[in-house]
Amino acid sequence: MRYAPEVTALDDVSLRIDQGEMLAIVGPSGSGKSTLLNIMGTLDRPTSGTIEILGQDVTRLSDRDLSEIRGRRLGFIFQQFHLTAGLSAAENVATGLLYAGIPRRNRRAMAEEALDRVGLGHRITHRPHELSGGERQRVAIARALVNGPALVLADEPTGALDTANGQAVLKLLTELNAEGTTIALITHDRDIAARAPRQVHMRDGRLIADVLSPGSAA
Ligand code: ADP
Repeated sequence: MRYAPEVTALDDVSLRIDQGEMLAIVGPSGSGKSTLLNIMGTLDRPTSGTIEILGQDVTRLSDRDLSEIRGRRLGFIFQQFHLTAGLSAAENVATGLLYAGIPRRNRRAMAEEALDRVGLGHRITHRPHELSGGERQRVAIARALVNGPALVLADEPTGALDTANGQAVLKLLTELNAEGTTIALITHDRDIAARAPRQVHMRDGRLIADVLSPGSAA
């Protein structure tokens, strides 16, 4: 029998994100970005160390409590959008409220409002296959925002888009941040990272630099 060698995907990482920030977590493939995002998003547990969300230590909560925290406090955006085929844009966005304790009668209006915020108020009944890649990612962004999360975690959100649509999605995230949404964006692309006011650089599972862009408020 062969044993897989133990991998230290993250080592000695300390990161604090304040409300209202927008930061990019940047580094080459295999540097630990996704692991960090999964841990920040309570999808993975660290072998040691602690995770706090809004001051609450969530490291040792039950899976059930963690999924409630994810539903109420966090929003996720993925490279491949992860929309449900066959559901309309509004229904997809409303799934972001399933675990947030929002009564069913309120979900539709909240979903439509979130779609309006991302410029898709005219596409609420379209299903994913009737939308462009850029529009699908906007639906996913609306789903991430609809519960008013403390933190939005975006994993390579422009990775599946062409340059123009990628730029538009970045602009939208920047605007949402200007309106107060806290966003952590993962990317291997330094040009994309440079658009964020703060860049956290990863290498070999370590956080090697934490830099504020010139001109951004400290
Ligand atoms: P990135 O997102 O920057 O590409 P990852 O967080 O995916 O990096 O990976 C960090 C390191 O951990 C890599 O060396 C990767 O091969 C390893 N790794 C990630 N997930 C697993 C896993 N489930 N089992 C074993 N090794 C893993």
